[in-house]
Amino acid sequence: MNQKTKLSETLQKLEDIELALNESSIVAITDNKGVIQFANEKFCEMSKYSLKELIGSKQSIVNSGYHSRDFFKEMWRTIGTGNVWKGEIKNKAKDGTFYWVNTTIVPFLKENGKPFKYVSIRHDITKRKEYEETIKQMAFYDPLTSLPNRNALTEWITKEAMEVGESITVLFMDIDRFKSINDNFGHRTGDKILNEVAKRLQNCITSFDFIVRQGGDEFIVFLKELSDQQEIMTVVDKIKEQFNLPFFINGKKIATSTSIGISMNTLEDKEIELLSFIEATIRQADTAMYHAKRNGGNSHCFNTFDQNKEMERYYLLDQEVKYALGQNQFSILYHPLVSLKDNKINGVEALLRWNNKKLGSVSPVEFIPILEELGLIIPVGKWVLKSVCKQMKSWHDNGVHINRASVNVSPVQFRSQNFVNDVKEILQETGLEAKYLEMEITEGTILNIKNPEGTLSELRDLGVSISIDDFGTGYSSLSYLKRLPVNTIKIDKSFIDDLDIEGEVIVDTIISMGKNLKYNVVAEGIENAEQASYLKAQNCHEGQGYFWSKPIEAKRITKLYEEQVSSINVK
Ligand code: C2E
Ligand code: MG
Ligand code: MG
Repeated sequence: MNQKTKLSETLQKLEDIELALNESSIVAITDNKGVIQFANEKFCEMSKYSLKELIGSKQSIVNSGYHSRDFFKEMWRTIGTGNVWKGEIKNKAKDGTFYWVNTTIVPFLKENGKPFKYVSIRHDITKRKEYEETIKQMAFYDPLTSLPNRNALTEWITKEAMEVGESITVLFMDIDRFKSINDNFGHRTGDKILNEVAKRLQNCITSFDFIVRQGGDEFIVFLKELSDQQEIMTVVDKIKEQFNLPFFINGKKIATSTSIGISMNTLEDKEIELLSFIEATIRQADTAMYHAKRNGGNSHCFNTFDQNKEMERYYLLDQEVKYALGQNQFSILYHPLVSLKDNKINGVEALLRWNNKKLGSVSPVEFIPILEELGLIIPVGKWVLKSVCKQMKSWHDNGVHINRASVNVSPVQFRSQNFVNDVKEILQETGLEAKYLEMEITEGTILNIKNPEGTLSELRDLGVSISIDDFGTGYSSLSYLKRLPVNTIKIDKSFIDDLDIEGEVIVDTIISMGKNLKYNVVAEGIENAEQASYLKAQNCHEGQGYFWSKPIEAKRITKLYEEQVSSINVK
């Protein structure tokens, strides 16, 4: 092969390569200042600039403003020192649209090693970038409101390298009574409100650093370097204002408000992991929000030391109570129900006790709501019921004839589907006759349950009696209760306490009305002889309280009963 043919073959090859390159890639050649000297057709096509416009312009003609100055500084440093640079760049076309290119820039060097021109080859990766964006959107943004979600928060925290001494303020907010909006207007309306709330919050965004939809109707706002309470309050007031404007959804005007919990913390130690520092601040703001809610909503609350202590205890209780049943930490005490006529034990009320190694003895007032929240009141309630029925049966088998055992029933149990069936099974299993068992249901429970008649009648049909606990605190009318199969009402302790400060009128009224309706009337929380004799004079049937005894173990009830019998025998 002679030189000429060799050359023409090489030329042909180069032409082919050029053709293929022009088909597939955006090619540009610039001088060492970035001024375009050559651009292929694809470049014109992508950038929507004519060849005339491109030649002589700087490569920055397609700059989108998306990348930081440091990004380009680093690129120029690489190619300026004679190295090849590779990267992904977002460019802007003449018509304002954006496109992404995968770029390789090759510097051509003079003898002194300095570049005199750059050849850049780019490929269109706009489609891939769009997919990536969609995936990112799905992973980091809430689909309903398009606000960042918890994943985005983690990303934001990682990016925000906080310095020691810097502070962060977290506002935790929740829409007041959002459940009732959903219940009354439907979930679609609820969603529209959430969307609108997100928009309104974004309108205040200049005052925030970051905002997240935590889930449900909860939003979290982060403010950096705002340690002045006055400044924080300006933001809080702005948010409240936004929430207080009514929403117009499908022609309906819906009013809302928000409760905001605020926590401000300063990073004091660089050893502390940033994520857990911010998570702790969020938890504190959440706690404060809960307190704002407790104050009736439409308010804000700053986090305090006492709130944190309360929350710590709550977490500990929550952790420990889960194992209490399995580890036999529960026990039952019995509180005598005394006949006011002859001071004899008519019955006993079973009261649950929890003794835990870390927490000591915990009041049911504190742990029962947690059991209810965890749904554990169902198995625990069953355990109480079974233990009490067994105990009653054993008393009766041993000649201790206590007329009735009262068991407190939580609204969660009362509402559960299997409740009546469980009672039935336990009675069968233990062999206790239903007439010896009484269920105490608070007046509040009766009022808060849609159709209490159904369950109450089923219990009555089993032969179990019903007692209304804490009577007088729920503002129910006796005429309403009259329709229900109720046997006993227990006048709440607060009214008995008031007897000492001339509160007789209410007590007298409850007793006489209760008796007219043929209820067995019990007075709870009798602590002194005056109260006991006053109630006896009013012909109240039974009393319960520390005046006679504190709640005691089963064997002490046996002893009390035996003493009572022998005293009768002596007489
Ligand atoms: P409750 O059913 O109204 O029980 C009466 C509470 O008042 C008991 O407190 C009892 O010890 C207390 N008490 C009775 N007489 C006096 C008195 O003269 N002075 C004072 N200061 N207190 C008196 P306890 O045992 O702490 O129970 C509190 C509440 O916890 C109960 O109120 C009941 O609502 C709930 N509870 C207790 N055991 C159970 C249970 O097994 N299941 C459910 N669901 N709730 C329970
Ligand atoms: Mg009770
Ligand atoms: Mg009570």
